[in-house]
Amino acid sequence: MTGGRSAVAGELVVDGVGRIPGFVNSYTFSEGSETYLIDTGFARRAKPIVRAFETASVSLASVSKVLLTHHHVDHMGGAAYLLETTRAPISCHRDDVPFVDGRSKSPMPLLMRLFVRTHPAPVAVTLNDGDRVGPLQVIHAPGHTPGEVVFYHAPRRILFSGDAVVERKGGLTLPAAGYASSLDQAVQSLSRIRALDVETLLPGHGVPVTKDVGSRLDDLIRRAPHDFLRR
Ligand SMILES: [Zn+2]
Ligand SMILES: [Zn+2]
Repeated sequence: MTGGRSAVAGELVVDGVGRIPGFVNSYTFSEGSETYLIDTGFARRAKPIVRAFETASVSLASVSKVLLTHHHVDHMGGAAYLLETTRAPISCHRDDVPFVDGRSKSPMPLLMRLFVRTHPAPVAVTLNDGDRVGPLQVIHAPGHTPGEVVFYHAPRRILFSGDAVVERKGGLTLPAAGYASSLDQAVQSLSRIRALDVETLLPGHGVPVTKDVGSRLDDLIRRAPHDFLRR
């Protein structure tokens, strides 16, 4: 606990924001009396998340909302289990809802489909571009999946970027092309993200980026058409 603020589950990144690392990052975000969990990891029983809350002596029941950046199982694998545990409603973008609740099969590369089990979860709140979830703004950034969203906290210039932009070796990049629903759209979405004033970028994969986010995005935007699109 610092400066009278409540403890957060996960590694403290900035005040009120905890990172729960794993194959994918989940984040906790606390402001006022609300605690949100952004993405739920691969594991069906959400072990890394459960452990992070235990370690911080924070009750999982304090989670008031579960926000999904997109429908891939590494981001929503623990959602159904966490719903049972926390009763916190699950939100995701309209275009990814049928993949999260199991009405449509998740379009994954063949290897993933053979080896990875999905764990459908009911979506209580359908998000659209421009919606607000408490202090967070929902920005549709499709391309990695049809309903990929990023969550932006304008006053504190924090961006939860999901897989719309990820970190690798100190730089920003897009996830592997094989997972994208539309690489064209994924590249276009980078401009939407660049238009935001971001100081702290919290990606779905890799480590948080707290320096030169703008210039790193510019670099990615310059490279992306050559690196990701065959023209
Ligand atoms: Zn993904
Ligand atoms: Zn991912």
